[in-house]
Amino acid sequence: MQHVIGVIGLGNMGRNMAATLVKKEFTVYGFDLSADVRQLASEQGILPENDVLELAKKCSTIILSLPKAEHVEAVCLGENGLKAVLNQGTTIIDTTTSVAETSRKVAQELESLGVEFVDAPVSGGPAGAASGTMSMVVGGKKATYEHVLPVLEAMTRVRIHVGEVGAGNIAKIANNLLAAAHLITTAEALTMAEKAGLDPEQALQAISAGSGGSAASQVMFPNWVMNKAYNSGFTMALMRKDVGLAKDLVESLGLDLPMAQKTAELWSASVDQVEDSDDFCAIAKCTNPALFGEEK
Ligand code: NAD
Repeated sequence: MQHVIGVIGLGNMGRNMAATLVKKEFTVYGFDLSADVRQLASEQGILPENDVLELAKKCSTIILSLPKAEHVEAVCLGENGLKAVLNQGTTIIDTTTSVAETSRKVAQELESLGVEFVDAPVSGGPAGAASGTMSMVVGGKKATYEHVLPVLEAMTRVRIHVGEVGAGNIAKIANNLLAAAHLITTAEALTMAEKAGLDPEQALQAISAGSGGSAASQVMFPNWVMNKAYNSGFTMALMRKDVGLAKDLVESLGLDLPMAQKTAELWSASVDQVEDSDDFCAIAKCTNPALFGEEK
């Protein structure tokens, strides 16, 4: 049976995921709090709904792409939330970068209604969402994962089922802690190379080809930092959230992880120089405003 899909949260990621599913001939309903965003979505073939309740009645699979865990909890369990109206047999795929405890709480409350939940955060940015080439880490029952696999396959190039509900968010936060650190260490390495007399572009190519390469040197610096474009579609606010989630997780586990701690300190200190609405790659400007800032 073909999944009828509802997407809640039609921002940079959600709208592009929904549009990809439309292109792959799924029927896709969408809801966002913003009327402007709903209008944009309708221009991409997504069927706009004016509230989540109407959407829920029509859909067998609901994808969430919301800013934070608190939005997921409110949309699923809050007053006028999905819980009151979900059809038995519905599956929720939560692609929000959220918190494992929230995923477990929501999954547990919905299970009694015959509704399944997987946490399925993604990497690849708006471009990956638009091309169906995201990577995804999934937490949930194996049977639920397999049930929604046709939908996940339509949205992603790589999927990794990492464990029970909540596991996807833990894996995603671990990934984003590394991405946050790599942005800074790459900016530092290029600063050192430039001061030692290298051309930074050539130094970047050298790093990318070597064992110090990462998505920071291979994707972020070439596309959004060196050219000063700073237009990846992922905001500073959202990356600050993710670094904060990593810091909270490290502390809750009682771990002594000095690099993680330093990364969190540097991201936290960046509030003096970089706005929440800026691109997340703008963290590079804090290391070296002369090299990575607006004016060289
Ligand atoms: P965004 O801010 O562009 O979009 C979020 C959308 O959710 C907004 O349009 C907002 O109006 C809507 N929204 C908020 N509360 C709502 C509610 N109660 N009901 C309906 N709609 C609501 O954010 P984004 O960049 O699309 O990110 C979405 C999630 O994906 C975040 O958790 C983010 O951390 C994660 N993520 C983003 C990227 C990226 O590159 N942008 C990459 C990987 C993961």
